[in-house]
Amino acid sequence: LFAGLRATPNDPIFGLTDRFNKDTDPNKVNLGVGMYQDAHGAVPLLKTVLKVENGLDAQGLPRPYPPMDGLADYNREAQKLVFGADSPAIAAGRIVTAQSLGGTGALTVAADVYSAASPNHAALVSSPTWANHIAILQRAGYTVGTYRYYDAQRHGVDVDGLLADLSAAEAGTVIVLHECCHNPTGYDLTREQWDAVAQLARDRRLTLFIDMAYQGFSEGLDEDAETIRRLVADGLTFVVGSSFSKNFSLYGERIGAVHFVCADADEAERVRSRVKTAARENYSTPPLHGARIVTTILSDEQLRAQWVEEVTAMRERIKSMRRALVDGLNAAGVHDMEFINTQAGMFSYCGLSKEQMELLRTEHHVYGTDAGRLCVAALNPGNVDYVATAIAAVRSA
Ligand code: PMP
Repeated sequence: LFAGLRATPNDPIFGLTDRFNKDTDPNKVNLGVGMYQDAHGAVPLLKTVLKVENGLDAQGLPRPYPPMDGLADYNREAQKLVFGADSPAIAAGRIVTAQSLGGTGALTVAADVYSAASPNHAALVSSPTWANHIAILQRAGYTVGTYRYYDAQRHGVDVDGLLADLSAAEAGTVIVLHECCHNPTGYDLTREQWDAVAQLARDRRLTLFIDMAYQGFSEGLDEDAETIRRLVADGLTFVVGSSFSKNFSLYGERIGAVHFVCADADEAERVRSRVKTAARENYSTPPLHGARIVTTILSDEQLRAQWVEEVTAMRERIKSMRRALVDGLNAAGVHDMEFINTQAGMFSYCGLSKEQMELLRTEHHVYGTDAGRLCVAALNPGNVDYVATAIAAVRSA
């Protein structure tokens, strides 16, 4: 039956983890991962999550099918977190929110709805981007191109290239943007650059998908959603994918949301029916457990405050590790990597070549991607100086 089937190429990130697991060096460090780790190198179980989970266990709740678009209370809380509790667009009933299987599921559902809404099946993603953006859109029948984004020389965003590429896109082209903590580079758009993108989107009738997988990991939960709130206030219609994988450390529960900002409540109702269909045809109904945890935390003032503290602590720890890495590099004689402190979120494009990244693995047992992406959220006081010394050694090799 499967005799003619060829295996898919190894996923580069999982391939790295395989190599890391086989490495027997006691100093080895895995910076190829896409998960936040605490100061002890563990993926944390948040205290608020544990508390709520214990309560849910004690209640012994049944597991009926939730609605296709997820739990209504969950959707309300997820919506408020992104758009603000007092959002006039929420009050006007023009935002459709559906529980999704993480940020991945948000794009999957959005792609199906876009596909039904417009005959233009072209999409543009940043160069580079999270690889699944391309795969998911292609699977939904899109031809996926890239817009210029990373400027290696200037250690930032090639905003002229970005705007030129968006200007050349046909009306209805789906444009995937990262709200904050760009994966993989760590470079985000400024407020002015976002305004220019929004203007183009409006003028050229582009279809924005704003991916917010890291809300709270750049400047704060509200601060990181500020662009989205501004675009809504400006009357733009677009879609947001949000994820609780990182900010609740609920990677394995597959919990997120997709939000369709529509022109009015009537349009929203039609979109909602499409969203339900997309959910049903993909997986029928979303899982309950993560949604119950997130809803309980977000709807309880005390738990929510405690969770905000936990998000703040994760964000601050990442920032302190960026500083420690730059300090370590300076101490090791590398003085031109200060740009690491200007990046945001879990990742850093460190500027090393593919060959240098390989040297980092073979000589120093430090694992990042070929493109030079390091997960700074996997640094800790026990490994950061070692990593800095290793990078310095590779740079002077
Ligand atoms: N979008 C981006 C930009 C991401 O980096 C990730 C996770 N690595 C996702 C979406 C997917 O998130 P989730 O695990 O919640 O599906």
